[in-house]
Amino acid sequence: MASKIFHPISFIILIFILLAPICHANRSIPSAKNSSPFDFIKSLKGCHKGNNTKEIHELKSYLEKFGYLNYSNKTHATDDDFDDTMESAIKTYQKNFHIKPSGIIDDETISKMTAPRCGVPDIVDGTNYMQPRDNRHESSSSNIHIVSHYSFFQGNPKWTKTHLTYRFVPNYPTNAIPPVVSAFQKWDAATHFSFSQVPTNQFSDLVIGFFRGNHQDGAPFDGRGGTLAHAFAPTDGRFHYDADELWSVGPAPGYFHLETVAVHEIGHLLGLGHSSVNGAIMFPSIEAGQTKNLHPDDIEGIRVLYASRSEDHRFRLIIIFVVTGSRFLRDTVLGRLRSACHVFILVVDRTMNWDIVGSILKGPVQLYRVQLEPIDF
Ligand SMILES: [Zn+2]
Ligand SMILES: [Zn+2]
Repeated sequence: MASKIFHPISFIILIFILLAPICHANRSIPSAKNSSPFDFIKSLKGCHKGNNTKEIHELKSYLEKFGYLNYSNKTHATDDDFDDTMESAIKTYQKNFHIKPSGIIDDETISKMTAPRCGVPDIVDGTNYMQPRDNRHESSSSNIHIVSHYSFFQGNPKWTKTHLTYRFVPNYPTNAIPPVVSAFQKWDAATHFSFSQVPTNQFSDLVIGFFRGNHQDGAPFDGRGGTLAHAFAPTDGRFHYDADELWSVGPAPGYFHLETVAVHEIGHLLGLGHSSVNGAIMFPSIEAGQTKNLHPDDIEGIRVLYASRSEDHRFRLIIIFVVTGSRFLRDTVLGRLRSACHVFILVVDRTMNWDIVGSILKGPVQLYRVQLEPIDF
């Protein structure tokens, strides 16, 4: 009998209970029927251009929140007229979510719009980053033609270093740390980035925490359901979970998977916007109980965003031949180059003390060791 205490289901329930006091106020039994801030959209079924229904102004604010609408005349933003601008916004939304762009609020549109999602907009300043543009995301080989749908933030903000530190805000639930650590490891394994955790009271590039409602960053959360989390573009570094959601460490029906959402939000921290590829981690919405992993579309996005590092004012590659020379000269040269280069290739003789070189070049520098054999003349 005692062995049943450690049944996997018991373990998952235990984790929910541990998370519950911090991650959400009510321990209600999760249900797909729980109300969501997006549920009002269901009452707009069948609406199309020319309609005037009282919830339309709410849908306008939904579309504005995620970047699909931006009225220059603000009175139209709060009225209930389903006008041309709104029809155009609905069609754009439908294209992004692979729905026939009818401009009508049909069942499929309602299903997509009411799905829980990330709070980061899909469109910024009128640029729809979820659609391919200028063919610059297209690649082809002899008989394969691939169109990628990853996106970046306005102006392609990115990090100029490859090692990033992260910390959790004070009172962050300890059992919600491993899923985030694991999410960082996934990005670490798939990209040129590496990450390390620092204590709560130290400076870090990235900061992770749970917040609820209006938490003073211009992007208030909306209670249970609706928006689940958000993160800011480089080099802001903030990643917030909505504390009002039901979160779980392991996948479970009715609960949102902490690690999956973390992998998505870290994508934003690194500079990715939303992708229209359903299987991509950067797709904007996710169902309760769903788990996802990095997709080639996500990894390609990071590769392309950071491939243009040679445009930086810093050198990308420096080849140094250090064969002889005093230790002082060598250390001074390496120390200065350390802050100016992304990659070193050192060609050295056998007398090089690697401990010294390693201590000088530590940090966001990749060190390739090439040891030459002495040449006999
Ligand atoms: Zn997102
Ligand atoms: Zn926030």
